[in-house]
Amino acid sequence: MTAAKNREIEKENNTTNQDRSYQPRALEEKWQAKWEADKLYRAVIDETRPKHYALTMLPYPSGDLHIGHWFSMIPPDARARFKRMQGYNVMFPMGFDAFGLNAENAAIKDGIHPMKRTFQNIERMRSQMRSMGTMFDWEREAVSADPEYYKWTEWFFIQLFKHGLAYRKMAAVDWCPKDNTTLAREQVVGENRVCERCGTPVIKKELEQWFFRATNYADELLRFDEIDWPERVKTLQTNWIGRSEGASVIFKTEAGDPIEIFTTRPDTLWGATFMVFSPEHPLVDKITTPEYRTGVEAYKLQAARQSDIEREAVDKEKTGVFTGAYAINPVNEERVPIWIADYVLMSYGTGAIMAVPAHDERDFAFARKYGLKVVPVIQPVGASHDSTPLDGDTMEAAHEHEGVMINSGPFNGVRATNDKGMKNPAIKAVVEWLEQKGIGKRSVNYRYRDWLISRQRYWGAPIPMVHCDVHGWNPVPEDQLPVTLPDDVEWKPTGESPLKLHPTWKNTTCPVCGEPATRETDTMDTFMCSSWYHLRYLSPHYDKGPFDEAEYNYWMPVDTYTGGIEHATMHLLYTRFFHKALRDMGITEGNEPMMQLRNQGMVLAEDHSKMSKSRGNVVAPDDLVNKYGADTVRAYLMFFARWEMGAPWDSQGIEGTARWLRRTWTLFTDSDDSSRRTPGSASEEVKRNLRRRVNQTLRRVTNDFENFEFNTIISGLMELLNEMYKAREAGAAGTPEWDEATEIYIQMLAPVAPHMAEELWTNQLGKPYSVHQQKWPTVDEAAAEEDTIELPIQINGKVRDRITVAADASEEDIKAAALASEGVKKHLEGKEPKKVIVANKRLVSVVV
Ligand SMILES: [Zn+2]
Ligand SMILES: [Zn+2]
Repeated sequence: MTAAKNREIEKENNTTNQDRSYQPRALEEKWQAKWEADKLYRAVIDETRPKHYALTMLPYPSGDLHIGHWFSMIPPDARARFKRMQGYNVMFPMGFDAFGLNAENAAIKDGIHPMKRTFQNIERMRSQMRSMGTMFDWEREAVSADPEYYKWTEWFFIQLFKHGLAYRKMAAVDWCPKDNTTLAREQVVGENRVCERCGTPVIKKELEQWFFRATNYADELLRFDEIDWPERVKTLQTNWIGRSEGASVIFKTEAGDPIEIFTTRPDTLWGATFMVFSPEHPLVDKITTPEYRTGVEAYKLQAARQSDIEREAVDKEKTGVFTGAYAINPVNEERVPIWIADYVLMSYGTGAIMAVPAHDERDFAFARKYGLKVVPVIQPVGASHDSTPLDGDTMEAAHEHEGVMINSGPFNGVRATNDKGMKNPAIKAVVEWLEQKGIGKRSVNYRYRDWLISRQRYWGAPIPMVHCDVHGWNPVPEDQLPVTLPDDVEWKPTGESPLKLHPTWKNTTCPVCGEPATRETDTMDTFMCSSWYHLRYLSPHYDKGPFDEAEYNYWMPVDTYTGGIEHATMHLLYTRFFHKALRDMGITEGNEPMMQLRNQGMVLAEDHSKMSKSRGNVVAPDDLVNKYGADTVRAYLMFFARWEMGAPWDSQGIEGTARWLRRTWTLFTDSDDSSRRTPGSASEEVKRNLRRRVNQTLRRVTNDFENFEFNTIISGLMELLNEMYKAREAGAAGTPEWDEATEIYIQMLAPVAPHMAEELWTNQLGKPYSVHQQKWPTVDEAAAEEDTIELPIQINGKVRDRITVAADASEEDIKAAALASEGVKKHLEGKEPKKVIVANKRLVSVVV
């Protein structure tokens, strides 16, 4: 073959290569199909490899994935891919939290069955998730509205019932008049107490309901020592549970009826000068004297019309009325008046409080307003206070802090500190005394309530319970599960579940006597379904139990859980309770279901407002994928914000990310080298530099993946790409250093832009398929080390110059280089420095 012919062929090749422009959509579809056909992301038990269960919160099938879904899923997907390349057997499943109000409300509106709508939406969202190039193992998909799934939700309910953890009681429930359903406390939001879903003000309604005894686990739920969860979530859960230590004390009415109160300050009992009852307290009617009855009745009516939050609001003017009755303070036999006031709630504590106006701001304001007695029992001490004894008549504010007990009988002179509970010596002494006297005892109070499970709705898992007039409530026999929802119901906004209105569904027989009986027509709170979905992923089609034990033993617990912080006091607390309850029933092992939790921030609209359909400011990911390709959208989602912070969306910024990926593509596909030095001609310095930058970037990217710092992964790769362009200009192509850089770069790119990385790796470099099955490269620490370091030089504390020295330079060499620098010479003006200090090879300090 002639040289001319050779040149011809070369030229042709170049042209072909140049034509290989970046066509993301075709390329992405091609690889997605191949990965799926090859079951590349199938996760099966493999005892030879360490497992990693990466879980991200499952979405509600609302119809379309929005950019917020993507922000919650893509960075964790990249991290799951990274863990897999690190050698872990990674399970990264996905499913749908498919029951709930939205589908049912839509059905009432337009008559489309929630089942149909939900499964259509799931179909659509599933295909959108595939288009993102996620590594979800779809063979593990679980859908909570599937009878195959909710059979086990029902089964769990029965286990909780059998173990005394599910019970029924009459309760005033929060009720949304628009959605016509009871709401859990956490579904009532804001100061105006509105429905979380529709914003309607919530009202009260008395209904018999099913509850789970979550409060049995209150103390254990306060322990976080086994889990690596964000401080914020731990704090939110701690405050939500709201544990306070103190004493319960029995006061008595003059007629002798006991009145139990809880106080965190038993050391102030001698200062309790009146009592306040909730207007709903059962004793109110009995004790109210005839002359005060009219006022009390009027006040009760007024209180009933207000919500709990209105009644408890801190800034609200406190009101109340006297009942005419008195109680006896058990510590000093003083007669104290009983008032009723709406800020005392029946649902919190015992519905009655002792009021200590001298040492509680709220009680103080109430006492001053109604002219009630104020008796100080803690005298402030210390340098910041004068020693004048507090005077109840002239005090201008309550003294809520430490001091010495006074006016307190046997306890005068005892020091009361600012410590809470039994750590406070005054509280400890008084509690022990109360117990001896038999008038009180140490007690702990919680803000946390049992979990209200019942929903008067259709689109939820049926509560598998049957009521017989003779045998009461009994569970449906387990071999008859699942109790399935009937399809033929009518959609009416009546406030009653369609299950209750269905002509036959509720009719069944008593599991005990076989006589006609009635099914529970309420369904379960959907948080019950999502409390255990991570277990269903283990074996979504398993029919001998909620999960296959072999799968459980290999995969659990969840290693990394990601999702929004808005679930801190709902799902994230429910699932911990659920796991602990299952543990105590012998179903699960270990104390916690999810070892590490990380929360992403929120993607706001470009104008910094919340994205919502009604505002019309929702970013549609499908459009972005069509325009830029999934890889670019993935990379941009990792780059545009710190993941745990979130940020307003920036539609301009994506251009920069798109340019970076196109340049990446060009670097590895374009062989036009006319503007470059001959391949292989790079100097040792260029090659050394390239290796250093590659290994430094690898170190950084590895750490950043571990730490969920996704944005700096992308910026690190962008910088490295620039270095590689420079190195190629300088003739690095064709050297072993270049090959190493290329390999490592594409491997680091793989979790971020899985399609492009696969194409470059497999088809461009001709390396073995698949890049996603490659071992994550290890950092060559020696190569990553800097040859030189730069140090600032201070003269009398001010930076005057910088010097660059060899990384292994001695202290003497550094001092000499510093004194020889122009900046230092100029400032010394020939004088001898008094001192030259080299601090930790970071700074040279010259004292003149
Ligand atoms: Zn509502
Ligand atoms: Zn019966």
